[in-house]
Amino acid sequence: MSLICVPIAVDAPGDVPTALIRARHAVDAGARLIEWRVDPVAGDEDAPAAVVQLVRESPAPCIVTCRDAGEGGVFNGSDEQRVALLTALHQADVWPRYIDIELATWQRAATVRTAMRGLASDSTQDGIPRTSLILSSHDFSGRPRDLMQRVAAMHDEPQANVIKIVWMGRSLRDNLEAFELLRDRQKPMIAIVMGEYGLMSRVLAPKFGGMLTFAVADTNEETAPGQPTITDLRDFYRTESINTSTEVFGVIGWPVAHSQSPAYHNARFAVDGRNAVYLPLPVADDHLHFKASIGTLMDEPSLHFRGASVTIPHKENALRFVRERGGTVDAAADRAGAVNTLSIGASDNLSAINTDAPAIIDALATRREELRGASVALLGAGGVARAAASALCDAGADVTVFNRTPERAHELASHVDGISVGAADGLATHRFDIYVNATSIGMEGGMMPGNNPLDELCEGDPTRPDSTSIVFETVYAPEQTPFLVDAAQRGATCVTGSEMFRLQAERQYEAWQ
Ligand code: NAP
Repeated sequence: MSLICVPIAVDAPGDVPTALIRARHAVDAGARLIEWRVDPVAGDEDAPAAVVQLVRESPAPCIVTCRDAGEGGVFNGSDEQRVALLTALHQADVWPRYIDIELATWQRAATVRTAMRGLASDSTQDGIPRTSLILSSHDFSGRPRDLMQRVAAMHDEPQANVIKIVWMGRSLRDNLEAFELLRDRQKPMIAIVMGEYGLMSRVLAPKFGGMLTFAVADTNEETAPGQPTITDLRDFYRTESINTSTEVFGVIGWPVAHSQSPAYHNARFAVDGRNAVYLPLPVADDHLHFKASIGTLMDEPSLHFRGASVTIPHKENALRFVRERGGTVDAAADRAGAVNTLSIGASDNLSAINTDAPAIIDALATRREELRGASVALLGAGGVARAAASALCDAGADVTVFNRTPERAHELASHVDGISVGAADGLATHRFDIYVNATSIGMEGGMMPGNNPLDELCEGDPTRPDSTSIVFETVYAPEQTPFLVDAAQRGATCVTGSEMFRLQAERQYEAWQ
């Protein structure tokens, strides 16, 4: 099992009491190791005494780190100042469980090596060293070209008890390289990818034998980009129960941080006691990145990548990917020209479905007995609109599509038999039985969070829904969009995007059984 380690930066000698309180809170929340980041204070003349106090009173085993400014820290003092810290610990007879020293510092500074050897020479009555050396290397700009050489140099250093390699991720594929390094390790090792691409390396550290994974008590306490909170790791991703056979699922999108899918699926896995975890999987916006990232995850058997939800902008890329890899595509995905769920069998067999389409029908079926003959105004012509159009046409509804970009509406109509494209004033001249918002108008953080798509897509004053209408929203953040609020005030029957989200997520979950 990987230990959860919480880094705590100490800005001044006077901050030691506060830092100790923060450490106690972190331990109460589940931290098993504290990393005292003393680089901000190391240049102070009282730093040696402060570091001795931190280690002596640390509420959990600890690492002492004086991180160099060139490797993501703030220390740009002298080697003598580093030596003074190590000597103070030695003279006071207090031993942090680990001292972290950068490979570059270690190779350069003979005085630091000597001081560290002095400290590490102390051992318990059983001959166990009281302090061990973590030799580390960090690159905040990307994957270092000499990554392998750095790792080899750290492995080759006889004094190094633990080796740590950290770099800024450029894509999900970096995680797999970190896992490969962990698998090939000859000593205890920490391999972490920073940034939004790297969450996988932090959550799955226990799956691949990483010695520890870093977490913060609060997001504003990050000491490196992408560190999750202790609560995220323990309660959300259940990191402490992750092991070599944990199955991996996720949501592929760009951006993907806002997705509610990780909350839904991780909670279901927890309730069912399934050894599985669900992660956000950011993939840059084009087919090439989709193919490279998802193909690499699939091709790594030890990852046990078993499935994914697919969201904007990758639903069409997912369909193409599955066809290229000879997978199966269900009728709903084929008709919609978009995939929102991938399932990967143990022998790599790939299948794709679209659960948006049946979820829309499921939700409408509880509001109206018969969809055959119902007139539907479909607002939008993107991925969800395509799923809605084919499902509603199959159910016999009379669908008219309205879209900001008319070419896209015509393209949709050419793809789905029986759909018509509305005129610019069509929403002003007709009242429909059902209105479906499949645009992102009204979405929090989107281009038009305060707007109603009826107003945006109608030339003139639109005819409003009334008490005989069903108004269906696909946007789920916020739950009550301007479109829904207005419709509810007029007495319409409303379906929220959250309900649709839950229904489509339930079908995804079933597909992964
Ligand atoms: P998409 O493929 O990107 O399509 C977006 C649609 O919104 C297009 O028709 C686009 O028109 C239109 N649009 C965007 N901004 C607009 C603006 N400022 N004015 C007018 N029209 C605008 O996205 P999608 O995958 O279909 O998703 C659409 C919405 O459904 C999103 O809000 C998404 O969160 C939601 N969704 C909900 C669920 C759920 O379970 N509840 C599931 C999936 C998606 P153009 O063609 O002119 O660009």
